[in-house]
Amino acid sequence: MTTAASALQPIFIGGAWRPGRGAPVVSVNPVDGSVNASLAGADASDVAEAVERGVAAMHAPAWRNLLPHERARIIRRIGDGIAAETETLALLQLRDNGKPLYETRGLVISAANTFGFFASALETLESEVTPSRGAFLTLTTYQPLGVVGAITPWNSPIASEAQKVAPALAAGCAVVLKPSELTPLLALELGRIAQAAGLPDGLLSVVPGTGAVAGAALVAHPDVRKISFTGGTETGRAIARAAADKLMPLTLELGGKSPTIVFADADLDIAINGVLFGIFSSQGQSCIAGSRLFVQRAIYATFVERLVARAKQLRVGDPLDPQTHLGPLISAPQRAKVESYVELARAEGGRILCGGRRPEGAAFANGTFYEPTIVEGLSNRSRVCQEEIFGPVLVVLPFDDEADVIAQANDTVYGLACGIWTGDYKRAWRVGTAIAAGTLWINTYKQFSISTPFAGAKASGMGVEKGRTGIRSYQQEQSVYWGLDEQPNPWANAPQ
Ligand code: NAD
Repeated sequence: MTTAASALQPIFIGGAWRPGRGAPVVSVNPVDGSVNASLAGADASDVAEAVERGVAAMHAPAWRNLLPHERARIIRRIGDGIAAETETLALLQLRDNGKPLYETRGLVISAANTFGFFASALETLESEVTPSRGAFLTLTTYQPLGVVGAITPWNSPIASEAQKVAPALAAGCAVVLKPSELTPLLALELGRIAQAAGLPDGLLSVVPGTGAVAGAALVAHPDVRKISFTGGTETGRAIARAAADKLMPLTLELGGKSPTIVFADADLDIAINGVLFGIFSSQGQSCIAGSRLFVQRAIYATFVERLVARAKQLRVGDPLDPQTHLGPLISAPQRAKVESYVELARAEGGRILCGGRRPEGAAFANGTFYEPTIVEGLSNRSRVCQEEIFGPVLVVLPFDDEADVIAQANDTVYGLACGIWTGDYKRAWRVGTAIAAGTLWINTYKQFSISTPFAGAKASGMGVEKGRTGIRSYQQEQSVYWGLDEQPNPWANAPQ
């Protein structure tokens, strides 16, 4: 770190901006190691205060009595507030986590649209009148679950947060948001924008702090009625264990090791660009990164040769430069993790076809840069193919036929996503539906829309985010039996 931290910045609890009582949280610019900001982080007592304020705010008439279209108006204003500051927020996020500007801009726009989408969904979602089976009218209505704990990782700040905060507010809940301690800044900006949009105090608190302190306190708090978590699979498991004691519902969006499959009949130009984007955008720090590439043996040698040639042309550099494809990794420990996996690949018998090192030169001296790396010669059973690296490392493997690639693609604990490149639409369907993956891309990769549900299979997650009904995962169904009897229930009559 090259710059001394100035005064600790406040956090956002119950509508008030005040210092947290926990350890400082420091946002570091991974381009050069300078300090963006130091915050007075949250401890368990701050989290408890945020939850108490959330309980009070969600039961206050000012929120509880709002009709859906009135609540939607506030939620839409939050989205408009984000959109109005797109450039500033994109630049701040770039400093917070090192992604190139075109990506951070995209994440901010996506966050704004997420609020807009859930505002529209809220106004148009319907409750049900169910078929009656007696002298009563039966209805299903939906009540807010309670205070929601939203816990997010560092790789897509503001977009991940919006994906939880917007549907939870739409559902009528209050949210206590715990962003990653590595990237706290955008979540606090979201708090500021929500407050300016007229969201009543207490409905959104932002408590940056460590997972072990602030995150664990949020999960354990008795008045938190749901955790919506995005992060690593092991952390998700620990949260699920703690949630079991409270019988608390969870949404878990976890890690991945997603296969990308290129058949010999694919449009190879389109496939090459898609594969490169799928693994190397966001520096490979993406849950849905296509990190295992299976190429049909007939085209393996030529495809890999072309892919490697193109990967060597990708530019690693300053995320502010529009020519840059890959910025720095989030932190020195994350780069060390990537490096240790590349060493492991070598030890496991892999051949490094490109990358496998830090870029050289003064511009890279203080940042956490790493070159896009392609490895071949490993078995799908190797640790490098089985464990999530979360960096710019692609392993390529040949396959013979559909049965072979289906077996290899499914041979993983994860099930987040899968990409298939082929000119045969029937094959795409056959293979795609045989692979356990929450998202299937056919002749495209890493494309998203808020209107399409997102979930992970196997160790990649539990529950669903996004989509119109994303709001429902923050609500409790209430079944109503509305009696229409003209006569008393005869059961209670005295015997004649
Ligand atoms: P992480 O699991 O280390 O941390 C995620 C969040 O959990 C952070 O805010 C952290 O402080 C908090 N946390 C840590 N321990 C906790 C505990 N015991 N109780 C409560 N909270 C705790 O993950 P990360 O390194 O920030 O992010 C990378 C991971 O996230 C990767 O595995 C990636 O695949 C995954 N991810 C998944 C998705 C998805 O949608 N499936 C999206 C993005 C990232």
